[in-house]
Amino acid sequence: MHCLIRNGQVLTGGQVKKSDILIEDEKIKEVDENIDYPADEIIDAKDKLVIPGGVDVHTHMNLDLGKYVSIDDFYSGSLAASYGGTTTIVDHIGALEKGASLKKMIDHYHDLADGRAVIDYSFHGALYEVSDELIDEIAGLYRDEGVVSVKIYTTYSGKLDDDEILRVLKKAKETGTVVCVHCENDKSIEELRKEAKEQGNLDPIYHAKTRPPATEAEAINRLAYLSELAGYPKLYIVHTSTKEGLEEIKLARKRGVKNLYCETCTQYLTLDESYYYKDGNAEGIKYIMAPPLRKTEDIEALWQGIIDGDVDVIATDHCPFYYGRDKSPYKDNFLDCPGGGPGVEERMEVVISEGLKRNIPLAKLIDLLSYNPAKIFGMGHIKGQIKEGFDADIVILANNPYTISQENRHSNCDYTSYEGFVSNYKVHTVISRGELILTNGKYSAKEGRGKFIYRKF
Ligand SMILES: [Zn+2]
Repeated sequence: MHCLIRNGQVLTGGQVKKSDILIEDEKIKEVDENIDYPADEIIDAKDKLVIPGGVDVHTHMNLDLGKYVSIDDFYSGSLAASYGGTTTIVDHIGALEKGASLKKMIDHYHDLADGRAVIDYSFHGALYEVSDELIDEIAGLYRDEGVVSVKIYTTYSGKLDDDEILRVLKKAKETGTVVCVHCENDKSIEELRKEAKEQGNLDPIYHAKTRPPATEAEAINRLAYLSELAGYPKLYIVHTSTKEGLEEIKLARKRGVKNLYCETCTQYLTLDESYYYKDGNAEGIKYIMAPPLRKTEDIEALWQGIIDGDVDVIATDHCPFYYGRDKSPYKDNFLDCPGGGPGVEERMEVVISEGLKRNIPLAKLIDLLSYNPAKIFGMGHIKGQIKEGFDADIVILANNPYTISQENRHSNCDYTSYEGFVSNYKVHTVISRGELILTNGKYSAKEGRGKFIYRKF
């Protein structure tokens, strides 16, 4: 099976140039100025941008929080992702019962995702507690399961203490595993939430006020020093949301902390904390997520971090709950609202539109949306580039401004965080591992066609 994409403005080798792409079965066979080949399928991409499929390394499908479970599963969530031009996701797995092995957690996620996902996927391991057995398993995940990253938390019920974090980091240094860390100072947030409760400050804005920038920056600073003690394993800070947090990453790198990566998410680049006041709290409750939305100066600092090369990855932290059923009952008490929001479908269009408006080159944006996440997480040999021998994960964008709205979304969620956002580009065609799954509104991916990616370095 051969497919030829002709006349597109193709992002390849760090440049946008007019090229043709020949796809043979699941792989990119050739990228060149003029390819003449009797392909089974010819796609004319004239006047369109052709980019590598998006790689979103921070999603939470089926995340079981006990009282609530995030409402996108691996089918609906990956479907939404693909409509938005993302062709690979790496999901952060949830906790099972205390004492459950990492292998058991990964097996559970295979049960959830295998035969369901419409695009390729993988999982990060997660340590919600530490024991000799769990630490030993980090090597097994890397070697046998194709899982070369683990997540740890410095807050929430599954948080690790500094001694436990140090043990994980030391083991990761030995195995080459990437340690992803949710950085927030747990105890100070607990105290601030207690105060808010006592004072009756329960409007959505207090979600932001009780998780101020210092709580993020302190935890990032601590992790960077723990990394130093562990000999600099690969340390990946998820969803960096503040100017202060980014400053800590820059300072750490300056003093010699190696292998330190910085992720931010679409919402921290586009939405500010004024959203918490929307419609007298009724809308604001939609944006309860941790970290919270920040101020415009944080948004500007993160974009500057992208320009300066300080931010490595833009992900989503896609973790939706229904507004009507799950979130709106808490509009007057943010403390009990399930945290998280949708975003897997919007990331590519929103970031590309917004980034190009800010005169950031497309190549730079795609580095953060596809190339870097693939490379950092052990998929750099097959994903994230339009290049001979790589998986044919290709997205064609039309320069066709349209308004993002709940009516044109595909997640299970009943709202979009980006309602009313005018995107200058619209995903027109999506090819996933050589299969044309979306073209001009016609969608054809079958449930379960996505494959688990055994990641490696
Ligand atoms: Zn997350």
